[in-house]
Amino acid sequence: MTKIYGNGFLKDSFESMCRSGRLPHGFIIYGEKGLGKKTAALYMAKTLLCEKGGNVPCNDCRSCRNIDKGIHPDLIFPEQSGKLMTYSVETCRQVSSDSIVAPNNGDRKVYLFADADNIKIPAQNSLLKLIEEPPDFVYFIFTAVSKDSFLPTILSRVVSIGVSPCSDDECAAALALRGYDSGQIQKAMEVFRGNIGMCIQFLEDENLQKIAQLTKKAADSIINRDEYGLLTAFSSDVLKDRNNAAVFLEMFDKVIRDAAVTQIDPEDRCISCCPAEALKLGRRLSAVSAEKIHKATEKAAADYRANVSQTLIMAGLCGEVMDCGR
Ligand SMILES: [Zn+2]
Repeated sequence: MTKIYGNGFLKDSFESMCRSGRLPHGFIIYGEKGLGKKTAALYMAKTLLCEKGGNVPCNDCRSCRNIDKGIHPDLIFPEQSGKLMTYSVETCRQVSSDSIVAPNNGDRKVYLFADADNIKIPAQNSLLKLIEEPPDFVYFIFTAVSKDSFLPTILSRVVSIGVSPCSDDECAAALALRGYDSGQIQKAMEVFRGNIGMCIQFLEDENLQKIAQLTKKAADSIINRDEYGLLTAFSSDVLKDRNNAAVFLEMFDKVIRDAAVTQIDPEDRCISCCPAEALKLGRRLSAVSAEKIHKATEKAAADYRANVSQTLIMAGLCGEVMDCGR
């Protein structure tokens, strides 16, 4: 059973496309991690392949049940490969040649390219002809954090639909259904609000809980001009791990983003893990300073990827941030 929480816009748009009979052959579903892009893609694939042929999946026919079991021969997940775990030119060429083969079961087949963010331009080019003139029975769904990863020629031939966080009630209901108690749900939603996927990850992953705490501590330290506190947060052992550090810098950057955005419009929706701190920070930092910290954070992330030592990176970032906070 594929259930979509929130994302009413996505569901409505897709349903009305199905109803109109003018269904495009390609879709890009984009949005932040954890907001249910893959669930939405599966829901769409299920609808396209459902034997009842309606505008929503019946969840009951052989096709729907086979998708639930992960064994539908006409729902194809091209493989990611290589160091970057991306869709290679070769894979995309295989998809092109496979796409002219008629479906096994029904009258459609669906290629689902999940997490297509790092799909390179040559690989996209090798799909272009197919996306421009797909066989009648072929559909493509890509999921990605941002649609900026795609060539304009691809974007112009597919329908892009963004996913959005769901309401607090929907998120809480989805988490309760997974067996979390109200205390856990509250704790996760304080950090990730309507992002069900990130709430679940937060509850399952102690590291993420620590990183969220460090982010809040860093924000507090800037607000209180506490250079020592900031350096302590930045030099935490948790951040010795490159992946943790990348997540931390991303979360920290979101706080700075919120601080900058709420200066202009205090009603704007915060996306960081500590909106209260971001709001306070917004009153402390000028737009120019926020931009400088954002740039320094991006540089720190790049340095981490280039294997520069944590001590050097974080001392540098701390200095930049403290200069800006003055
Ligand atoms: Zn069905």
